[in-house]
Amino acid sequence: MTEAVAKPQLRWSSVRDCPRKAALEGGPPDREWTDREQRILYRGRSLGRDYMDWLEAKYGVTAVEREVKVEWALGTGHIDGFLWKTQTALEILSSAHATDAMIHSKLVQLAGYMEHYEPALNGCLIVLDPGDFSEERYPVAKDTEAYALLVKEVHERIAALESWRAGGNLPARVCAKPSEAPGHFCRFADTCFEGWEAPPLPEVDRPEVLALAAAFALEKGNERAATAALDEVKGRRKEVEAQLAVELEGHPREVLSGSFKIRRTDVQRKPTLDLRKAELAGVLNVELLGEFMKPGAAYTTWTVERHEGSAGGIDYGEEPF
Ligand code: SF4
Repeated sequence: MTEAVAKPQLRWSSVRDCPRKAALEGGPPDREWTDREQRILYRGRSLGRDYMDWLEAKYGVTAVEREVKVEWALGTGHIDGFLWKTQTALEILSSAHATDAMIHSKLVQLAGYMEHYEPALNGCLIVLDPGDFSEERYPVAKDTEAYALLVKEVHERIAALESWRAGGNLPARVCAKPSEAPGHFCRFADTCFEGWEAPPLPEVDRPEVLALAAAFALEKGNERAATAALDEVKGRRKEVEAQLAVELEGHPREVLSGSFKIRRTDVQRKPTLDLRKAELAGVLNVELLGEFMKPGAAYTTWTVERHEGSAGGIDYGEEPF
């Protein structure tokens, strides 16, 4: 009788980031977590729990099932939350400034769960801002081209791991160099890059290029200094605008003051359509687009200039009002 081969317990949450890391996690890590990493990981988990608490408080205790176990070919994963009413898998990303790469990686994770958990008819990535607990939702519908592409990635990652398990090479690195590992919360950089040497950079031996590089460095420094000075001036101008808003509250939009005409313009930007979210959600009906419209920004601009017929008054020298 042949013995059943035990299923490896690779972490799907690692696979979505770096399949090679998921493979290496079968062995001991090269280092311990740093204190900062522990805190970030803890904060991420606690925010996920907080979000589920929030859903339960808002929609009732039976609204969401937490940590739903999902079996896949080489391991077991856990969906952060599952809404049985709409059969929606929830994945939480806690980040105030989530990059496109982070969002994509979490969408791959979510698609992996949706593929391996039959009740999951829909999915939604929740990007939570740890600062104010605000959220941005990325609904994922199964019958879309965007979902098909995510699923393709899911299967490519699994195939790379199965090939390694069958005696092939470890899956390809996602890091170009060891120093990128902490950005992936990876403690296997030494093992992963064992025997690796940074490829030497090609040298360009032309004085024109050297002179341009030096000029660029100089101008970049000048640009930084000018930007810092400009930021300071802008900050002062905004302070003055804020004071004007207080002083002129209740007044018409355009008034005269001594030799100045002061005009307030309230700007309402046009709403924009978040195409990626609409695409993920499989929105085909124009009537449904409203849910994916971002409200336009509203703000006020101020103009202060000398008006015709001004008798002058205070001498401001050559300032270009
Ligand atoms: S160091 Fe980078 S490429 Fe290597 S296993 Fe870790 S995350 Fe993957």
